[in-house]
Amino acid sequence: MISVRNLTKIYKLKGSEQKVVALNSVNIDFPDKGLVFLLGKSGSGKSTLLNSIGGLDTFDSGEIIIKGKSSKDFKQSDFDSYRNTFIGFIFQEYNILEEFTVGKNLSLALELQGKKVDKATVNKLLDEVDLTGYYKRKPNQLSGGQKQRVAIARALIKDPEIIMADEPTGALDSATGKQVMDTLKKLSKSKLVIIVSHDREFAEIYGDRIIELKDGSVIRDETKTEVEAQKSSSGVSFIDNEIIHIKKGQEINKEDLEKINQMIINNAKNSDTIISFDDKSNETVKKTAFITDDGNREVFQQTKEEDIERQKHDPKNFKMIKSKLKFKDSFKMGASSLKHKPVRLVFTILLAVIAFTLFGVVNTLGNFNRADAVYETVEKLNIETLVVTKSVEDYYDEYLISDKEYDYFQNKFEDYDIFRIINSGDSFSIVGESSSNSDYTLDRTVKRRNISGMMPINNNILSSFKLGLIHGELPSLDNQICISANMYNTIIELYSNVNNFEELKEKEIYIDGNNYQIVGVIQDDTDVSEYADLDGQDSNYNKNYQKYEELDQIMNYSLINMCYVTEDCYNNLYATSNNRNSGGSYYQAYRKGEDNYGGTYIDFYKATNYLDNSYVQYGYIKEGVSLNSLSGDQTIISKSLLIDTFGIAEEDLINKINEGLTVNFAAGYGEEKNHAFSLTVVGLIENNSSLVLLSDEHYKDYFEGADYLITRLHDNSDDRSLIRSFENHNKTVFRFKVQCPATSILDNFGSFISGAAKIFLYIGIGLAVFAGFMLMNFISTSISYKKREIGVLRAIGARGKDVFSIFFSESFIICMINFVLSWIACSVTCTLINNGMGDAGIKLVLMMFGPQQVLLLFGISLLVAFVASFLPVFKCARKNPIDSINNR
Ligand code: ADP
Ligand code: MG
Repeated sequence: MISVRNLTKIYKLKGSEQKVVALNSVNIDFPDKGLVFLLGKSGSGKSTLLNSIGGLDTFDSGEIIIKGKSSKDFKQSDFDSYRNTFIGFIFQEYNILEEFTVGKNLSLALELQGKKVDKATVNKLLDEVDLTGYYKRKPNQLSGGQKQRVAIARALIKDPEIIMADEPTGALDSATGKQVMDTLKKLSKSKLVIIVSHDREFAEIYGDRIIELKDGSVIRDETKTEVEAQKSSSGVSFIDNEIIHIKKGQEINKEDLEKINQMIINNAKNSDTIISFDDKSNETVKKTAFITDDGNREVFQQTKEEDIERQKHDPKNFKMIKSKLKFKDSFKMGASSLKHKPVRLVFTILLAVIAFTLFGVVNTLGNFNRADAVYETVEKLNIETLVVTKSVEDYYDEYLISDKEYDYFQNKFEDYDIFRIINSGDSFSIVGESSSNSDYTLDRTVKRRNISGMMPINNNILSSFKLGLIHGELPSLDNQICISANMYNTIIELYSNVNNFEELKEKEIYIDGNNYQIVGVIQDDTDVSEYADLDGQDSNYNKNYQKYEELDQIMNYSLINMCYVTEDCYNNLYATSNNRNSGGSYYQAYRKGEDNYGGTYIDFYKATNYLDNSYVQYGYIKEGVSLNSLSGDQTIISKSLLIDTFGIAEEDLINKINEGLTVNFAAGYGEEKNHAFSLTVVGLIENNSSLVLLSDEHYKDYFEGADYLITRLHDNSDDRSLIRSFENHNKTVFRFKVQCPATSILDNFGSFISGAAKIFLYIGIGLAVFAGFMLMNFISTSISYKKREIGVLRAIGARGKDVFSIFFSESFIICMINFVLSWIACSVTCTLINNGMGDAGIKLVLMMFGPQQVLLLFGISLLVAFVASFLPVFKCARKNPIDSINNR
């Protein structure tokens, strides 16, 4: 069933030109059964031949033909299947797997063929090799002979058609060796058994055929053949004039007797004549003298092709069994190699965990998103009043929120009552009184004399904002006002003539050009106690400056110093307050394509308010333009602004205006993205350096609106979409920022992150790479520990792919440990950071370690494990099994 044709293998010795021809065009046809010895001196190429035929080793040219199928088209995996299907190996060094029990060593070979294993089959085989009851034994409890018998049983369990053994008795004493040989001889009745040996005696006694090698070439190929002996009429054999053989139960006649006597006379000089009836001695004589039971003699003769008994095979019927190493087994083998280097393992994992944790934390940082951070913080701190401001990205300056924008949000979130707050940051004073304390630093504390703003009040608003009327009543007339409890306390403290509400009720309060009668005091639920320690620290102004700055922001965006008026009053105020000078300094003129053309203060005004102004002297006005009805983006603009800022030569001005001159302005520092708008110049003002007059509509869109918006949160998930919607609205132009007492710190943190994230990322990547190398090293080491076992597994039929599963299992285990540990470490770190900031008085949720980060950690653990193990495992899986077994 198997032949080799022109099999050649040449070893090139490393580091020299020298070559060793281990096999030199070997041609052999093997019979379907019988015991074939490969005989030869050490180094003659026996093992190389056996391993090549067995598919454990590669060869350089030639082919193996199995059941009519040539190995020429075999891939590595086909050789794996070939071994798995046809061949059982027995090695000199037994090579049983120490990890598994005797039983498992046997059943694994069968499992690799995808066959079910029942214990009875295994036990029966163990009986056959005299190892009854050894099923549960571990290999390290066995003697050499026992191990070799386990190996034989393992080779047999698949019931392979060919058994190959390389010096199977080499490590055994002679008695045990004989036993093993007898077993193999027995097997050769039904299988082809190929044995490598240098022991000529064994070979001649047991072998049916002897193939002798020298320097890689076959120098002798002989088959044992029975030569008919000379026989008397009664059937007594006279063999080569040396031996007389009388069959069991045979009687001799006179003629025989004469012949025997003649032979004794002829040979008596040279040798004793023994006539023996001892069964045992006779057996030995028969064996060593090669006498068969029929009284013939067996001699080795040149093998003739017609002597080789073999069936014809049709390559079409050729079938092989692919091995299947169960996940459980590869996992077990992978796991068992973890224990070889515990210190290194711990170190590898530790490093990887640090790297991955850093990675996770960095990613959490990188994913910092203001909307969610605000939401989490608001949730955690139970903040229920939300303030929204409008500013330019990266700058703190605030811009008015236009009616259009307000309408958009109010319509989008109909369930929320959103109010537009005006007069934020304006100061107040009690009419006709002077404050007893003009200390500037006190002014900057909680008891500051600026107001948070003005909003309408009625009973519904009172209850929905959870406000409490602690003195007096709600305003009912347009000139009446309720002040906050904090303002009330400030007034009591600052004005010596006001000591209680009764005294305050008779006073008027001045805010932004209007006097109001104070009719009530409203308490909100903002917790000021947090900031109580800021009180009276006036002597430490510098030290606390930072805190006060933050406090400013907190106070501005809260109800702490809110004033409450009737809805009518509020509507009136809202309409008229929009006519004030609109903080023109926040806008800069810029030339297209140029950054930061700052430095010029610009005052934007409604043209209709300035037409009759006697201070304004108009210059050239474009034909057809009516001074009192500018439309769209038309502007009348200071001449000097055009010349100095926009760089237009004075003599060109009129021409350019007639050609449709446009000028650009932007919020913050002149960059197009910052709410830039263009105006078409239709007229000139002679005598004002920074005046820009706008149409009513343009002015309304850009310079009218509320200081900020305030609304009451619902304490449910709607709040998150509300916050997100504000935060993500039209981000490229303006930022709508949700504010709460924590947001200034949040924003500082945000800018810190963008600075630090990259550095962390690089450190993380660096560590991850290092961890990868450590892991690679670890896997390489454990492969070198496992090399032999891998080779053995492959010898009994496992595929290169199975080797992958073993070591990927190992990597996977490490990777899962890494993943779980770094998951824990990450969430602990993030919680610690959040809590740590809480302890430092900064109550906010900065680190949002969520499912996304967990997934990332999982991914990166997997990736590093995969990348780190791929190379060494690939190299190992590609190796010839025999090289693995011999630890090369
Ligand atoms: P045997 O089994 O008959 O003792 P081998 O088949 O092991 O002989 O070796 C045949 C020849 O090939 C020897 O000369 C040996 O030195 C050489 N050889 C075997 N294996 C290797 C190897 N991996 N690298 C280089 N030379 C080898
Ligand atoms: Mg050898």
